[in-house]
Formats: sequence, C-alpha cells, structure tokens
Amino acid sequence: MPELPEVETVRLGLEHWARGTTIVKAQTFHPRATNPRSLARISSLKGARITCLSRRGKFLWFELDRPQALVAHLGMSGQFRIQDPSIPAEKHLRAKLTLDTQKELRFIDQRTFGWLAVSEMNGEVPDLVEAIAPDIFDPAFDSEAVVHRMRSKRTEIKPALLDQNLMSGVGNIYADESLWLAKIHPQRSCDSLSRAKIKALLSSVESVMSKALLEGGTSFDSLYTNVNGESGYFEHSLEAYGRENENCSRCDTQIRRIIVGGRSTHFCPRCQRL
Ligand SMILES: [Zn+2]
Repeated sequence: MPELPEVETVRLGLEHWARGTTIVKAQTFHPRATNPRSLARISSLKGARITCLSRRGKFLWFELDRPQALVAHLGMSGQFRIQDPSIPAEKHLRAKLTLDTQKELRFIDQRTFGWLAVSEMNGEVPDLVEAIAPDIFDPAFDSEAVVHRMRSKRTEIKPALLDQNLMSGVGNIYADESLWLAKIHPQRSCDSLSRAKIKALLSSVESVMSKALLEGGTSFDSLYTNVNGESGYFEHSLEAYGRENENCSRCDTQIRRIIVGGRSTHFCPRCQRL
C-alpha cells in the first residue's frame, strides 16, 4: 500500500510528465474510478491545462488553469503510467487522460480503492483535501501544536501516529520504523511521554520518510510502480517493519511482532521498552 514517500515519488513523476500539458480528452472506465464526492465528471476536464502537481499526506492533486483541481488517491494499488497511445490498455485501466504531448496518462488500479475527483480549489488546497491535517513536510505543519495534541491523548502512541487528523501521511510501515528509530515502545501511552521524547519521535518520522523518499519509496505491493513504471521496492532499508525474528541492527535482539490497535506492529523489545 503506498505511503507518503511513494505518493511523493508519483507526484514528482507526474510533475515531470504532465506539468504544462493540456488535457485533450479525459475518460473513466469503472464506476469506482470517480469519487462520489466529485463535483463533476472527469470528462469535464477536457481542455484544462495542468499547471502543477501538489500533495498533502497521501492525497495528490493536479492544479489546473481554472479554480478546480483533479484530486487523486492511490488507495491500495493505484498507479499512474505514462504510455504511448499505441500500447494496448492495461487489464485494470480505470481512467485515462490524453495529453497534448501525444502521451496518455493512465490510472490503473486492480483493487479499485483508488479514485479521481474534480474538486473546487479553496485557497491552497482543494475542498476534498481541506480536512486532512498537514504532513510533516508541509510548510503549514505546526510541530509544537502536534506535540501538544499528541501528549494530551490517552491512547497508545502508535495509533496516535496513524491518526490522520493529528498529522497526515504516516502509515503502518513508517510508524513502526519511526518508533524503532526513536526507541519508543509502540504501546507507550501518549501522555506518559515527555515533550522532548515526542519531538524526537517527530524528527524520526521526518528522517525515516526523507530516507525513503531518497530511495524512491518503499512498497510491499508488487502492484505498486511509480509513474515511469519502475517498481518502488526498497524493503532492504527497513529496520523493524516486516523483520519479525530477524536481529535488531542496534542490539542484536530479535524483532518481535504484536498487534497494536488492530495493526501488525514490529519492534525491538530491548531498544523499545514499555
Ligand atoms: Zn534493538
């Protein structure tokens, strides 16, 4: 499932291929390809010029030369591919934008949890994205406020990290990696952690995701490819997630797997004590 670094990698690819192009034709091929909250049909974007590509958390949007945006969410398995029109349609092709560069931007999604939508621009972000909290790379991210709100919660720290209303973009993989790096047990209660410790955790989130961004994103889904069709598979760089029974690189203790808040969770029982 794509997380923030994967979505950012896709955004960079789209920025390269689609920025400055005009949509000659827009088509959808599956009822779930369009989010029910879409203001209009995707086909109404015919004639719009793509001025830039933006992202908040796992939401991407194409800014247009009109007060609307095309918002995209990759869901579990969504991919964008730039293709020559002569290449036959992919089996799970859900939508297609024909660009004035004689290329097609194809949205492919086997599990159909991904979607596209036309949304009104509301200042810097589309209406559909407005309720999503800024992610750690967003200039609007207020780390002092997030530390304060996190410390006031009585839940375990891992579900708080995954809470998209507190900060967006952290999914299961990077939550485990960040907790490992900050040496915090995933079941520690938020209100038992000092301000300094939560600040250190946010720094860990930033460094884990920056590292993944440099490597082009991590994904365990063989369906995931970036916009150029290359796989974003960088499992080797993970320290905790998916490494049950392997040795912690810091202390040689075996990584354990437990369930926290219904999610599979990996941690080092020695470095991350309760
Ligand atoms: Zn360890």
